[in-house]
Amino acid sequence: MKRDTQIFEIIEQEKLRQLKGIELIASENFVSDQVMQAMGSVLTNKYAEGYPGRRYYGGCEVVDLGEQLAIDRLKKLFNAEWANVQPHSGAQANAAVFLACLKAGDKFLGLNLSHGGHLSHGSPVNFSGLMFQALEYNVREDNQQVDYDQLESVARAERPKLIIAGASAYSREWDYARIRKIADEIKALFMVDMAHPAGLIAAGLLDNPLKYAHIVTSTTHKTLRGPRGGIILMGQDFENPWGLKTPKGEVKMMSALLDSAVFPGMQGGPLEHVIASKAVSFGEALDPEFKTYQAQVKRNAAVMAQAFADKGYKVVSGGTDNHIVLVDLRTKFPALTGKVAEKVLVEADITTNKNMVPFDSRSPFQTSGLRFGTPAITTRGAKESLMGDIVEMIDTVLADVENDKTIASVREKVNATMKQFPLFAW
Ligand code: PLP
Repeated sequence: MKRDTQIFEIIEQEKLRQLKGIELIASENFVSDQVMQAMGSVLTNKYAEGYPGRRYYGGCEVVDLGEQLAIDRLKKLFNAEWANVQPHSGAQANAAVFLACLKAGDKFLGLNLSHGGHLSHGSPVNFSGLMFQALEYNVREDNQQVDYDQLESVARAERPKLIIAGASAYSREWDYARIRKIADEIKALFMVDMAHPAGLIAAGLLDNPLKYAHIVTSTTHKTLRGPRGGIILMGQDFENPWGLKTPKGEVKMMSALLDSAVFPGMQGGPLEHVIASKAVSFGEALDPEFKTYQAQVKRNAAVMAQAFADKGYKVVSGGTDNHIVLVDLRTKFPALTGKVAEKVLVEADITTNKNMVPFDSRSPFQTSGLRFGTPAITTRGAKESLMGDIVEMIDTVLADVENDKTIASVREKVNATMKQFPLFAW
């Protein structure tokens, strides 16, 4: 077979793009070479529907070892009692929880998408909003932090079957204990989607939601620094407290309901090459070095938030407890949309994304905010001292968005800076 130069040239181009730019997308990271290697391995050739020790295909003895290792390492990492490592993505992990816990049309409660929530927590264009009755809670207008009083009053009035905590653009710690109390009062299940801060939680730098939630979902590719994928975990609460039934009407343990919801409910064959790669990343996250990395991610974000504030930007919620810095552009540049800001920064080789800010006056296609994150830049070795320079470069571009010369000179600086932070060994 002839080598496919067309696609490999595209991959090379993307590699160069990643190398020369400053990557500030909060949901991205750079995986290690061994995480990458496991993904591109012979395990992709294997079908393994089912779970370790109970598969629908022959020849699964070896992949069973890989999947079990991933499960064992993941349980240890988050102090979990049960884990499923098969979801192909974070959204599919969430979909499996919905399938296990709700019937079509049931009510559930999640954070308003325009206040930082995720698409799969009830957006009207997502399965969660299309198939179920999505209710929402907000952040408070005064401090842009979760409005627990409002959450509580919606929960009491509407009695949803499921309450979801977790977000895509929220930079603060959660009061999981308070939400669990509300869930218990109305006999709802409590799920935390820790996709964004999972790495910080694994490192013990944020509270572990497994202590409070019935079910925890996550992606593996953000702060956790693994391959793209999803996971589902449970702490001590796998007993099916509210007597949920299988489609055949049986009451089973939550773990069994969730396993069946992932396969055969949502997916067919698991991606054993990705699961092996997840195992590698969980192993890396168990290493003490990971704690040092996550502490740096957090410190870098705090310094970045302060640097934006010092330059007159409004940082949503006034700061950050995690890896995210959400900036409201309106105070400094009232006419500048997130859409234009994202585009000009990309021209300067700084990658970030436009984002709604709470109580945004603009649509999700324009937005008034930019979301920044420090996981990727920290993996490349950036320390606090670089954060001020990065904010300075961003500010220079945003203050002069129509000047190609300014953009070109910042781009040169960005490329020169990133040369000092080598990335791939290959
Ligand atoms: N949950 C949260 C909180 C997220 O931020 C994301 C992705 O950004 C997801 C779920 C979905 O993950 P995936 O893109 O792997 O489906």
